[in-house]
Amino acid sequence: MSEDGEKTCPFLIESGCSVYSDRPDTCRMFPLEQGIIYDVQKNKSRMIHLFRPPDFCLGQHENKTWTTQTWTQDQKSVLYTKMTVQWADLKRLFLVDPWGQEGPQGPKAKMAFMATYNIDRFRDFVFNSSFLSRYKLNSALVKRIRLNDVELLKLGFEWVKFFVWGIKTPSIRMR
Ligand code: SF4
Repeated sequence: MSEDGEKTCPFLIESGCSVYSDRPDTCRMFPLEQGIIYDVQKNKSRMIHLFRPPDFCLGQHENKTWTTQTWTQDQKSVLYTKMTVQWADLKRLFLVDPWGQEGPQGPKAKMAFMATYNIDRFRDFVFNSSFLSRYKLNSALVKRIRLNDVELLKLGFEWVKFFVWGIKTPSIRMR
């Protein structure tokens, strides 16, 4: 956060949010809070929403009524929400220390961090390392991930499950 007294968001400037069109999901959905419930039997995560706006939220005094669905659409958050659930599904696996003796600075952690937080480097890794000669990806998927960050991030989630925990995925097969 910023080094000011209120520790404000570093993207906050005099005129408002400086990254408004690319703001994160939690900012889009405010004043709704998001949480994830994991259904053990269905092996699936799903999102829940809580509405407890803080006093400074002026929107709560407006007359217009929103549902979670209409608010999600209005804030163009549908895809963000979908990706948040997929991320939560992966994040759940980190509840147990996945690094073992390597620790959080080891190769597994570096790979996991790159594939989920540094999409440009992950694309470079996929296309400019031996990755595609070691793993077989569907050709349509290869085309999609070359240009589409969302598709690449989804592959990143699957890759981390496979690389860190050895969880088989339909998209990545050994050659
Ligand atoms: S909307 Fe989100 S990203 Fe933008 S200034 Fe506010 S907290 Fe920061």
